[in-house]
Amino acid sequence: MNVLQKMRPSFSFIQVLVIAMGMTGAVLQAVGQAPTGETVIQKAEEQFENSALKTSSLKGLFVFSGDGGNVTAIVDDGSTLLVDSGVASRTVELNDAVFKMTMRPVTRLVNTHWHFDHTGGNVFFGSSGVTIIAQQNVKKQLSSVQEVPFVGLRDGHYPEQALPTVTYSSTMALRQGSQRLTLANYGPAHTDGDTVIYIAPVNVVVVGDIFSNAFYPIIDLTSGGSIDGMILSIERILAQTDERTKIVPGHGPVATRADLQAYRDMLVQVRQRIQQLIAAGKTMDEVVAAAPTKDFDAKWGSGYLTPDVFTKIVFSSLIRSSASR
Ligand SMILES: [Zn+2]
Repeated sequence: MNVLQKMRPSFSFIQVLVIAMGMTGAVLQAVGQAPTGETVIQKAEEQFENSALKTSSLKGLFVFSGDGGNVTAIVDDGSTLLVDSGVASRTVELNDAVFKMTMRPVTRLVNTHWHFDHTGGNVFFGSSGVTIIAQQNVKKQLSSVQEVPFVGLRDGHYPEQALPTVTYSSTMALRQGSQRLTLANYGPAHTDGDTVIYIAPVNVVVVGDIFSNAFYPIIDLTSGGSIDGMILSIERILAQTDERTKIVPGHGPVATRADLQAYRDMLVQVRQRIQQLIAAGKTMDEVVAAAPTKDFDAKWGSGYLTPDVFTKIVFSSLIRSSASR
């Protein structure tokens, strides 16, 4: 076991999904036992560990995919700034690929949120003196134990060197060579510590897991995420971009503003349908049986989440927000 393996947070994708669900034990049992759900999750885990690390260039930036969430590299004369750091087990491979493309050492790392498939390389980079930057809630989540008591999950406790050393609340400006970076948090969406990074003048925006291209997104309810927050953040991003903007999602291929608009429209419609079923007094099982995502499933339903699990997440999010009103 090498140092990296030893320090690797003991998350599995199912555990993250469990965190994402953040609801009653009965629901979790139902989700955990769904055979199609497990197949999808196993597929995702396998993908993070075994898929080839792909490098592509994007208007002078670089995007690395295959080792967890997408990783974006922005270079200046002497250094590379990374957005996200993949899964821990593949950090050395990622670092080698980044250096091969950029020929400059990584000196700064921005985390779009705290999940293991975006922060797995933090131990490696933090230990090498890289400055880690994130929204302030990411530091809380990475440094404290994340508890989901009814399934006995305790995790998220990263070592000191993996924690962000520079944090912000709602917005922060950075420069990397000729590029101006604007980091923005629009409140809780996928988690309560999401960062969207606008890069100008190149006109690229890196949005983390607020956008999955093209599949139903996990919404981490336990970390403060919500369907309404997801929609709100996406609308803010749509307002800040144009038809030439390239959008780097948390997972999946680089997208256009039209893709993000279609994703927003899907989320709004699914939310509306589920809200109507809730208003009609339907239980979660009845809502799932009503198949509120049906006409979207061909396009969005073959990713990590099955339509049923996504429906349950949206249902739970809406129940929670009506309970807190
Ligand atoms: Zn995530």
